[in-house]
Amino acid sequence: MGLTKPVRASDWKDGFLLVGNYVVLDFLNTCPVQAGKAVELLPDFDALLRWFKAVDLLSSGDVVSLRRQWGESARARQVVEAMRELRERLRKEVVAREHGSAFHPAAIDELNQLLAEHPMLTRLKASGTGATTQLWFDPRRPEDLFAPLAHSAATLFADVDRSRVRKCRQCVLHFYDTSKKGTRRWCSMRLCGNRLKVAAYTARQRVAHRE
Ligand SMILES: [Zn+2]
Repeated sequence: MGLTKPVRASDWKDGFLLVGNYVVLDFLNTCPVQAGKAVELLPDFDALLRWFKAVDLLSSGDVVSLRRQWGESARARQVVEAMRELRERLRKEVVAREHGSAFHPAAIDELNQLLAEHPMLTRLKASGTGATTQLWFDPRRPEDLFAPLAHSAATLFADVDRSRVRKCRQCVLHFYDTSKKGTRRWCSMRLCGNRLKVAAYTARQRVAHRE
C-alpha cells in the first residue's frame, strides 16, 4: 500500500474523488459539495471499505473478508461514525495549517493516541539484490482501520511543506501540490479549472458584446 499517490488520469475511482495526492487529503475529500449540497461519500461501513480499496489501502480480498467479518456489526458502524468525526477535526487542522496557524494541542494528542493504539507496521521486501521497506497494517478489529489515516495525517503535518497543501480556489477539496512549479490552484482541471476558464470566457464575451 502507498500513502502518497501518483497523479491519476481520472479524478474519480469507484465513486470516490482521488485528487488529493495524499491519503489523508483524499479522506478529507470524501465529503465534497455537488450542486451546492454536501455529499457524504462514507455513509456506512461498506462505503468505507470501498474507499480503502479505492485508495489502495485494502485489496479486493481484504474488503470481502472484512465485510463478512464486521459488515453488519454495531462496532463497525461506530467506527465509520468516529472516522467521519475525525475527518472533520482533521479538516480544521489542515485548514489551520494552510492559513499558517498553530496546531490545536488536542489534535496532536488525539493523533498520538491513534498512532499508539493502531500503529502502521514495517515489512522488508527484497528488491533485486537489495531490499526496501514497506508500510502495512493488520486490521484485527474495525478500529485498526484508523492506522493508515492517523499515519498519513501525521506525516502530512510533519513532513510535507505546508505551502504545498491547499484548498481548491473554487470548491471544498484539498490537495497536495506535487507539480514542479508548485502553482496548482484547483482540485482538478476537469472539475474546477475548466469550469472557471469557461466562466471567465463567457464573462469576457458578455463584456465584449456590450461594448
Ligand atoms: Zn475544486
